[in-house]
Amino acid sequence: MYGLKLENITNSNQYEELVKLFLSPDQYRIFTDEEKEGSENAEVFSFQGDKNQLKRELYEYLRCITGESPKWGILTGIRPVKLAGELWRQLGSREKAGHCLREEYLLSEEKTELILDLYQYQQEQLGKPAPASAGVYIGIPFCPTRCLYCSFTSNQSGPKQIEDYLSALFHEIRFAGKAMKEEESFAESIYIGGGTPTSLTAKQLEDLLSLTQASFASSELKEFTVEAGRPDTITPEKLRVLKAFGVGRISINPQTMHQKTLDLIGRSHTVAQTREAFDMAHKAGIPLINADLIAGLPEETTEDFRQSLEAVLELGADNITLHTLAVKRSSRLKEMDENFHYRHPRLTEEMLGIAKDILERQGYRPYYLYRQKHTAGSTENIGYCRRDRLSLYNTRIMEEAQSILALGAGGISKVYYPKENRLERVPNVSNFEIYIERIEEMLDRKRNNFFRR
Ligand code: SF4
Repeated sequence: MYGLKLENITNSNQYEELVKLFLSPDQYRIFTDEEKEGSENAEVFSFQGDKNQLKRELYEYLRCITGESPKWGILTGIRPVKLAGELWRQLGSREKAGHCLREEYLLSEEKTELILDLYQYQQEQLGKPAPASAGVYIGIPFCPTRCLYCSFTSNQSGPKQIEDYLSALFHEIRFAGKAMKEEESFAESIYIGGGTPTSLTAKQLEDLLSLTQASFASSELKEFTVEAGRPDTITPEKLRVLKAFGVGRISINPQTMHQKTLDLIGRSHTVAQTREAFDMAHKAGIPLINADLIAGLPEETTEDFRQSLEAVLELGADNITLHTLAVKRSSRLKEMDENFHYRHPRLTEEMLGIAKDILERQGYRPYYLYRQKHTAGSTENIGYCRRDRLSLYNTRIMEEAQSILALGAGGISKVYYPKENRLERVPNVSNFEIYIERIEEMLDRKRNNFFRR
């Protein structure tokens, strides 16, 4: 057990995140000014007004005792590309930003070049968002079953509850569409996510998309995505509805192409259904399909992951998003095995490395990236695209330079203030039954805090 004493520190959270890159919770104890008892033999680190300096000292100490050198250095934030952009603008050149990332944040050469490349590519492809633009998110918090690792607002509800939810949601969409028109802002992208939006019936989807289109469609709309995550919820009829209402991008998420893993993680669909869903989507003429895969799923090897990726490539997805398994609060996995991710630190890094080689050989390139806490190996989630068909919504949300109007249970709207370059959150409640009950309050929150500009 290692003892680490942080002097002149009351809140140790951000330092503990760094310690967790090297050690599992049963291997260390942190002492602060307020919790000193038992710290006699602890290694002392003293805060002298520069938190990065303290983190670098901690990193060096942990590197010496464990022999590990995590590639993200002392960076524990979830948006490294945003930081790369800020440094590039502040310091005036890519070289200076790279130097700072390596020296100040101790990033490896590989991660430094990756995030600088991503920033440059996003700027070239998408530029800056127009000041009056917003990303619109609509949440459908229902799924056929709950995945082992899920920490989202996902419910397995009956038809009556879903109908009640849609009534409340439609009320919020009408209100928000009208308010946007009044303040002369517009949706640059629309993203219907969840949950699994395609767990709605074709008729419910038609009503939802028809209202969404009437409320937010304009000549400025550049991207319209619907998550069709669970292959077993996809039908030709639903795909026809999506196509008819101008949905240009859907996400079908295999997560793995191994049946034994699907059964283990509670996905309730088969590999054959994933193949059928892709086939149906191609036949329906959906222009762009994203496929999510997860690295580090229980009992999977690097070879399993490679096979899944190759199978997904054969299905013809233009966007492939690689997630690293995260053990999050409120997931069943956390309840069953909260230290799962500490036991496989190398595996996910290897998987992402193999995937990079395969994808780049097949003409894909990374276009966005973010990090999550509690992932195996503290790696990243990374989106690849081919033919420059990157997802606008995904990129903008990580850039944090545009307002996000989020509707439905669990939606967290964010108002962007360009002068101060900051976002202010305007959340809805996450429980869908409380959302239905308190829908007028959700509208008031938006009226007072989102549309007041
Ligand atoms: S499909 Fe997504 S939202 Fe639904 S239960 Fe699985 S992880 Fe959660």
